[in-house]
Amino acid sequence: MLFLITAGPTREPIDPVRFISNRSSGKMGYAIAEAAIEAGHEVVLVSGPVCIAPPAGARVINVTTSDEMFEAVHSNLEGVEIAVLCAAVADFKPANYSPEKIKKERGLENIPLIPARDILASLGKLKKNFFLAGFAAETEMLAQNAQKKLREKNCDVIVGNDVSGMNTGMESDHNEVVLYFKDGEILALPREKKSGIAKKIVNIFVSRAK
Ligand code: C5P
Repeated sequence: MLFLITAGPTREPIDPVRFISNRSSGKMGYAIAEAAIEAGHEVVLVSGPVCIAPPAGARVINVTTSDEMFEAVHSNLEGVEIAVLCAAVADFKPANYSPEKIKKERGLENIPLIPARDILASLGKLKKNFFLAGFAAETEMLAQNAQKKLREKNCDVIVGNDVSGMNTGMESDHNEVVLYFKDGEILALPREKKSGIAKKIVNIFVSRAK
């Protein structure tokens, strides 16, 4: 099957040297890409800036900003059967970009922000034939927040991730997730290496997408 996977953070520039971003190593998305390739699937990996090597065999599209990620995803949907939106896309971006580096002496009292485009919600709206998976990293009320996202973004599944502890989630090699499906089913995958979680996620998505 053909997977489209987003991974890593995005960077929203303030000026040529400064940006706002999210904490994300890209490890979970890259592990899912690797597991999908190992299972014999094709992968288009749309990646924000990360420090890890992409899995051999993936078609990698490197992007920096949320707008670039939005465009890359929407122009690579042809033939996609499973879309896994794992990236920690910025929710907000600076309203204005300064083409010159802002001088320290000038000061910067505040940075007006506007919402970034929501890629997952956009795919949910135009959803045709692909299975759509989103992620929800939450520090509280995981089930409620994940299920709200599932409905509002019109996904087939949300992979919920409690990031309040320090042992799982962002930047870690381990993870522990709960899958919330559209049909109401809930499936908890206990703590293990991200590679193990990724294999299970790929198997589950493939069987659900058929
Ligand atoms: O609403 P929230 O940002 O927590 O939703 C997380 C999910 O939405 C993730 O799957 C993430 O990849 C996706 N997302 C997106 N575009 C955004 C924000 C989030 O695709 N601008």
